[in-house]
Amino acid sequence: MNAIVARETYKVFGKRADRGVARLREGATREELRADGITAAVIDASFEVREGEIFVVMGLSGSGKSTLIRMVNGLLEPTAGELLVYGEDVVTMNQQQLRRMRREKVSMVFQHFALFPHRTVGENAAYGLAVQGTAKDEQERRAKEALRLVGLKGWEDSLPGQLSGGMRQRVGLARALAAGTDILLMDEAFSALDPLIKREMQDQLIELQHKLGKTILFITHDLNEAMRLGDRIAMMRDGRIVQVGTAEQILNNPANEFVAQFVLDVDRTRVLTAGAVMTPPVALVGSEQGPRSVQKLMSDHQTARLFVVDREKRLCGAVDEEAIVRAVRDGDETLDGALDDQVVSVPENARLSDLLALSADTPKALAVVDDERRVVGVLARVTLLNALSRRGGESRAPETQNLPTDHARAEVGAR
Ligand code: ADP
Ligand code: MG
Repeated sequence: MNAIVARETYKVFGKRADRGVARLREGATREELRADGITAAVIDASFEVREGEIFVVMGLSGSGKSTLIRMVNGLLEPTAGELLVYGEDVVTMNQQQLRRMRREKVSMVFQHFALFPHRTVGENAAYGLAVQGTAKDEQERRAKEALRLVGLKGWEDSLPGQLSGGMRQRVGLARALAAGTDILLMDEAFSALDPLIKREMQDQLIELQHKLGKTILFITHDLNEAMRLGDRIAMMRDGRIVQVGTAEQILNNPANEFVAQFVLDVDRTRVLTAGAVMTPPVALVGSEQGPRSVQKLMSDHQTARLFVVDREKRLCGAVDEEAIVRAVRDGDETLDGALDDQVVSVPENARLSDLLALSADTPKALAVVDDERRVVGVLARVTLLNALSRRGGESRAPETQNLPTDHARAEVGAR
């Protein structure tokens, strides 16, 4: 189920807002309305946030991000269109229903988190629960657990003034977590933090999201942050959503010149993952296979190196043509003598920025593996360098290896 759905949603500020929507639908621009004292903050926004994903809305200041997120939790009413939270239209909710939604389904974390200076960290984290009238011991228990989750275990009795900026922001996050809602709305939550702390908070948010499976709608004007955090990203410009996609899709296929210009500055190595640029292995060798069949496999696929896997497709090593030729000549029955067990493997989700040094040290292709160490792809150095040099707007990576391009894997041996 989608956690949040917007369908042709508008928010227009000013007198005769309805008329503003009608004019926009007829093709009037944001500037034309502005000249008449009408602000078209959000124009014809349609998107879906899937349950359990981090969905980032990215745009420059004034592009309508805060207005959008405030409509999601009912702080602002859309001028037109629909806004569904778990299938219920926020537009038609009365005050009581809205309050219940904010209590049970949606929590918000702001950039400048208003912590109460004279209340303890624990009391601050429990604030939302206190407002709801939750029992005192329940408040304490949930606040304590939320503080533990954000790495502030043991700080319950401190005052906010004793905490660093990053830690204070963690209290803000803990407050939202303590509320126990499935959806977290975060409006520029990390924008005021120093770069290093910001990075730490991003890592922690990703970790928490994996652990707790929350749905997060995250707003930022920082494209690198958007690409680091977002499972998917909505690019906003002048009130409109101009593209929704994964970081890779936006980098590789920007919807228009605006997005293309924007992503030019992105550090591609921090965005692209091994899984996004790898090529599938043309063939895998089963560890109990003999040298002769491997030689044939290499000849069939015109390749001089193949990865060797066990019955579960887990990486055991690699074999090179030279070693195979020698093994065949020596009449070896097994691959043992030919096996190169020093293969460097990297996880699918590894960022290319973390692989550059590794690849520089290793002239041979890296094996890309999943969580179970099963081989899912090959990352040749040339592929890596190519991915880094590509700019937005170009088509997909040209084939960089002398390998067949079909995704067929000859699954020999390993039965
Ligand atoms: P962002 O969060 O992307 O910086 P906002 O959603 O805050 O953008 O603002 C989008 C536009 O709507 C801006 O031009 C802003 O001035 C205008 N705006 C936001 N809130 C109001 C309001 N309550 N009344 C009138 N105009 C508003
Ligand atoms: Mg804003």
